[in-house]
Amino acid sequence: MTRILEPGQIEALAELAIHRIRLPERIGPFAARARRLRELAAPGAIGHAIGDYLNLMAAVAEAQEATLATLDPILPDAAQLARSRIHRMPPIEARSWPREPAWRALAAQLTERVAAAADIPDGARRELSQVRTLPPEWLEAQADALLSGRRGEIEMAVAPFVMAALQTYWVSLASRLSEEVVPALEVPGVCPACGTLPVASVVRVDKRSQGYRYLHCALCATEWHLVRVTCSHCQSTEGIAQHSIEGGPEAIRAESCDQCHTYRKILYQEQDVGVEPVADDLATLALDLLMGEAGYHRGSTNPLLWQ
Ligand code: FE
Ligand code: FE
Repeated sequence: MTRILEPGQIEALAELAIHRIRLPERIGPFAARARRLRELAAPGAIGHAIGDYLNLMAAVAEAQEATLATLDPILPDAAQLARSRIHRMPPIEARSWPREPAWRALAAQLTERVAAAADIPDGARRELSQVRTLPPEWLEAQADALLSGRRGEIEMAVAPFVMAALQTYWVSLASRLSEEVVPALEVPGVCPACGTLPVASVVRVDKRSQGYRYLHCALCATEWHLVRVTCSHCQSTEGIAQHSIEGGPEAIRAESCDQCHTYRKILYQEQDVGVEPVADDLATLALDLLMGEAGYHRGSTNPLLWQ
């Protein structure tokens, strides 16, 4: 039997159609991260043992939110978007996008704001001033190393702050794109907007994403759909298992793959609607220890922790 859909029904179905990608909002993404970090750092919470670090990163996220509102980045033009569509390449690809020198001013502003926050450790102030006082070439080289994942060249202590500036710039870019200009990539393992590896994944509960799992970009915060029980590193659907800390929160688990022996954390909004990929991943280092002991290695690093 053939059924013809009325226009109203077509709209209703489109409404139900799954979000392929979720671009970050222009206002609020870092504020939500900051709130979550402070929550996870509180006494009795899972991240309390590293509470000082989580609170420092919360101050960073608050500064990111404040500076995000001041940005007005140059977006890809029609020719760049056409190239990205034809070659199915990320339109704001982290390594090749001609980032504006203004990102360095942003880094200075951001670190100044963090340094002015009341609750940060003295040791951090030294690193924050380093970001402000070292020459532009040094900062650009650090940015290149971070965006390309060249770990040997990364100055670990200042990396979270440099990364924070890059994140703010890229979130600002991604939040101004429309879903249509972000192509579906041949490789599902990297962000379709900027080509960066995901930090973790999250099973969402809102109306258009209910029950679907999204990978969360460590740089631009774009999320893209990946079928559940699939390795986010090698896309294997076999040998996938979930692990959690005994007595720990049900909402935060690690998904391991026996094909490639990597894991990434997977967060469930059904169990805790407040989960935030960067914050929850950072706060659950105990789960990383557990996974390391079980012989799995992380699929990618947390953008706010380099070691
Ligand atoms: Fe991205
Ligand atoms: Fe795998």
